[in-house]
Amino acid sequence: MTAKKSNGGSAPHIHLKTTRTRANRISGGGESEGGQHMEICETVHHNGFCILCRDGSASFKENPLFMCNHCPRVMCRLCMELPLGTEDTILGEDVSFRCICCHMTMEKQGALYYGFYYRDGTTVLQSFLRIHASLELSSRAEISAAPILFIHLVLIDFETTGSPFSFTHSFLQPYFTSRGIEYREIAYDIISAPGAYLKTVGQIIKALKNSFVWEHVVIGISTHSDNDHGDLFAGYSCDDGEKHYGSAGSDEFLEIILRPWQSLLDCAKETYLWLLCCGSIVNNSDSSIELQRAVVHHKLSTTIAFNAQHFQPSFASHLLLAFTEQVLIERCPIRLAFGEMLGQSYKLGRHTDVLLLTPLEASLQISKFTWGDTNFRPWGGFLPIQCPSCGCTNSWHSAYARASGDKTYVFECKNTTCDQSFKFSQPKGTTMLSAGRKQGCSWMEVPVEPLLT
Ligand SMILES: [Zn+2]
Ligand SMILES: [Zn+2]
Ligand SMILES: [Zn+2]
Repeated sequence: MTAKKSNGGSAPHIHLKTTRTRANRISGGGESEGGQHMEICETVHHNGFCILCRDGSASFKENPLFMCNHCPRVMCRLCMELPLGTEDTILGEDVSFRCICCHMTMEKQGALYYGFYYRDGTTVLQSFLRIHASLELSSRAEISAAPILFIHLVLIDFETTGSPFSFTHSFLQPYFTSRGIEYREIAYDIISAPGAYLKTVGQIIKALKNSFVWEHVVIGISTHSDNDHGDLFAGYSCDDGEKHYGSAGSDEFLEIILRPWQSLLDCAKETYLWLLCCGSIVNNSDSSIELQRAVVHHKLSTTIAFNAQHFQPSFASHLLLAFTEQVLIERCPIRLAFGEMLGQSYKLGRHTDVLLLTPLEASLQISKFTWGDTNFRPWGGFLPIQCPSCGCTNSWHSAYARASGDKTYVFECKNTTCDQSFKFSQPKGTTMLSAGRKQGCSWMEVPVEPLLT
């Protein structure tokens, strides 16, 4: 790995020319940079894969998929045992189909499943519909084929080898039998060439607008961030004839980088921002406030950020894959899915905490997810590998102190001539998560007070 890949370092702070237009924020429509108007249409994109066997179908004749009239799920012909001679009847115009997941939700008492109904609620089949399957997913899950747009915004000449962002798109492609999934990567330099960025985005939006209303827009930003100020690297600045990166405050940066996409964001049902950069953007309180403001301003439904000082995006690969599977495909709301997503990526927790920002009325709900390990990361805290006073390694012996309901770990140096010790108290409001829990280790959720005023 080259030093430049993900380490922040520092760069001169640049003031970008933001013309903050509190543009069209009315949900359901917006003017994009090119003036194209977009509208939300409430089409139901039925799933392309059977909710039970999770298989698609090469042709209608071979294995028809029955679309549920109550949800976007489908069930295939091979998963059900249709009585002989009923195939024509069930395809009748006055017949509706209810998938077994909807049925289970509606009929908590476990009533017989008939699948096909006439308008008056009477069943089409004489006896119950036999289903050959077990439930592999949650009964609330889908195998969604709603259009997804990935936008990867990468600092110009920034090395993103090993970035998990592009492979999430490759992972999802087989789920989309037709189009309905797009990936765009844009190298930006909004310091020396802001016009070029606007133009590129304008052209992309124009092309994308003709295809779908993108229900899910996932934006990844890959850049460095300034270790001191939490500024984000925005492009090249040319001082004394030398070309080097310049950085900008997170609100200026996000305004310029996101505003051109706002019409797409406004039309989308869900928008996700993955900040694949070093942690100073959330660790620095000024830049953290600016980030929180930008998240509300751009109406992002979810923002995910990391606080490791030298964050390596490739370590977030499992988390991103779990996100595509559980949130984008199975359509589990991200806050519900997040514990499970983290459970599949516990090693990430040795490297970084994960921040999840979601809107809450006029403010934000912010959670910090920390991996705690009673031996190495007590309450998610930093325990050095070496005693900083005497230089010994393997130097800690721990005592678990429980005083007046306060669960505190104390680590003391084993070196008898050294009096170095560390104390780790349980952060206020900590919830231990069960997914991915191991002996003495677990992800924990800690609520973070938003800094918005
Ligand atoms: Zn099936
Ligand atoms: Zn259904
Ligand atoms: Zn020591």
